[in-house]
Amino acid sequence: MRLSDRITTLLPHGDDGWGVYRKALARQDAGLPLTMLTLGEHDIRTAPAILDAMDRAAREGQTGYAPVPGLDRLRARVAERVEARTGVPTRPENVLITPGGQSALFAAHMAVLDPGETALFIDPYYATYPGTIRAAGGAPHAVATRPDARFHPDRAALETAAPGARSLLINTPNNPTGQVYDLPTLETIATVCENRDLWLISDEVYDTQVWTGDHLSPRALPDMADRTLVIGSMSKSHAMTGSRIGWLLGPEAVISHVEDLATHTTYGVPGYIQSAAFSALGQGPALEQEISAPFRRRRALAEAALAGADRVRSLPTDASMYLMLDIRPTGLSGIEFAEALLEDQGIAVMPGESFGTAAAGHVRVAMTVDDDAFGDALTRLVDFACRTGGGDARQ
Ligand code: PMP
Repeated sequence: MRLSDRITTLLPHGDDGWGVYRKALARQDAGLPLTMLTLGEHDIRTAPAILDAMDRAAREGQTGYAPVPGLDRLRARVAERVEARTGVPTRPENVLITPGGQSALFAAHMAVLDPGETALFIDPYYATYPGTIRAAGGAPHAVATRPDARFHPDRAALETAAPGARSLLINTPNNPTGQVYDLPTLETIATVCENRDLWLISDEVYDTQVWTGDHLSPRALPDMADRTLVIGSMSKSHAMTGSRIGWLLGPEAVISHVEDLATHTTYGVPGYIQSAAFSALGQGPALEQEISAPFRRRRALAEAALAGADRVRSLPTDASMYLMLDIRPTGLSGIEFAEALLEDQGIAVMPGESFGTAAAGHVRVAMTVDDDAFGDALTRLVDFACRTGGGDARQ
């Protein structure tokens, strides 16, 4: 039987960028030592108080269908959080609760693209972006950035990429680069969106993991609230990856259409998960800081391990649970380096090539094992880089 082009071409090259990760899992299954620094998954689990709230809600009966756009009180609490953080007036009607940020990314593109229309996104990018755009019927078009510009998008590239495009997807704080877009960058993005009449889809799922500078939401820039759709999630902020809860934020008219989409796709998010999210958000920034604190500590450990290394350099990590390491001085590609590091040291990292073309010659390190194991892994990684590639330095 014939399948749709849409489903069979979701990953056009048959390569999903997860080859090193799969090899790492095979190593683990074979009982070999492994330090897994690949996935964006906390090493702590969801806090007991959040689980208690989930349990209570389920036992009190919230196991039936929940309101499709989300519980009123949760939508209101998300709106309050957004307004407090950005200063942009936000109502519950601007918020749709979704099963994670991933679902919100899909919904946002469904809302703004007609079949075959082009959606822009910035390279390097979170691995699901092009497939998500294709799943929504769109044509993904990457706008490359450069390592020497710290992977910030360039105005000319944004202005000229794919004439006729309908939307631009950005991600700040950024996965995989660990960068935060500053105000001038966001202003450039806003100007381009206005000039080209683009929807801006702003993925802000790492908004609580900022180490230097501030997270700025482009929705807060003048005249941008009407053309910006924000992706939010409790996965990273509250270590709730498995609970699948996030939101889409945007103009009321967009949200009400996306509610229709949710009715015909996800049918909402379980009520007990939403109640747990309501309770977690009620604890305010203190809990968010507690959950992000390990990454801040490990970033400092990494800086110490990398100081003075010449074959591996870290992009200054402003934010997120990741480090982007430039390993070009070893002469290896990101894939070659990651495979050799796995083989030699049992340390699994993601090749930069898994995130597009712009981060070739880099690897992304997730800071997601305990401090001692992380510090040790970074020391071994640096040592390995010093011994590797570049001809005569190899031992
Ligand atoms: N956006 C980015 C940039 C991500 O890194 C992730 C998850 N790693 C997501 C969106 C989706 O997260 P979730 O669906 O768990 O909210």
